[in-house]
Order: sequence, then structure tokens, then C-alpha cells
Amino acid sequence: MHVRKGDTVVVITGKDKGKRGRVLRILSAKGRLVVERIAMVKRHTKPTQRNPRGGILEKEGTLEASNVALWCGKCSAGRRCRVDIKEGQKKRRVCVKCGSAIESA
Ligand SMILES: [Zn+2]
Repeated sequence: MHVRKGDTVVVITGKDKGKRGRVLRILSAKGRLVVERIAMVKRHTKPTQRNPRGGILEKEGTLEASNVALWCGKCSAGRRCRVDIKEGQKKRRVCVKCGSAIESA
């Protein structure tokens, strides 16, 4: 998986193409992920104690991991990243285009 929890990603294909959001959850076994405010689906819920009224609730659905790209703030675009290893330092992920480090939140 090329992204991690907390990363900002941009959707590169599908109905939410071009939208940006933060990765909330990674489902590595399925190769899918959940991104904030993206791929919203409606769930018809019964009333519960937490949600005493029930009804239609909108929540994030899952996306195919290959449909998103890591967001580079410097390029203002979705980019591929590579892993940059410098001696005595932690591994960093850098943008393939501009070389700036991509930090996960
Ligand atoms: Zn960049």
C-alpha cells in the first residue's frame, strides 16, 4: 500500500475524481481505504442509544487504494512518491516530481 493513515490523498478516478481528503482507515487485506468526506454512502440505521432517532446516516465508504494518489502540497497535485533513505536518518517519502518530503499527519 502506497499510502498511510493520516495522509492527504487525491482521488484520481471514479465519481469523486479530483476530491481531496485525509486517509482515515486502511483496509490492507482488501486493498481499500476510507478517506474523509469521500465516497459517501447512505446508511439506513435503526435508532440506537448513540443515535436515538435513527434514519439515514451518511458515512464514508471504501475506495480502491489504486484510485488515489498521495497529495503533494508543493506541486498542488497528486503525485507518486518514492522512499528516500539517508544514512542515519529515518526513511522519508518524497514527491517524485519536486523532491519535497511528504509527511503523514
Ligand atoms: Zn511535489
